[in-house]
Amino acid sequence: MPGWSVHVDRTRCLGCGVCAAYAPGSFTQDDEGLAVLRDPPADPVEQIRTAVDSCPTGALSLAITDIAAIEREG
Ligand code: SF4
Repeated sequence: MPGWSVHVDRTRCLGCGVCAAYAPGSFTQDDEGLAVLRDPPADPVEQIRTAVDSCPTGALSLAITDIAAIEREG
């Protein structure tokens, strides 16, 4: 477990592609341009956080479940 999880609310996604630009190992876009979470997400949590914070509609949410696990990952 990486110590965090991220959720995409596709009902709020505009398909701008910002999340996939900031964290391409974790987000991609489907045929309609809507964000899709890659399984497993493959970016450092700080990159995920940047993507989440940069989403213009607040469609992304990051939940920290184990800060110690994140710190171990470096
Ligand atoms: S940044 Fe937000 S609105 Fe843009 S594609 Fe990603 S989830 Fe959708």
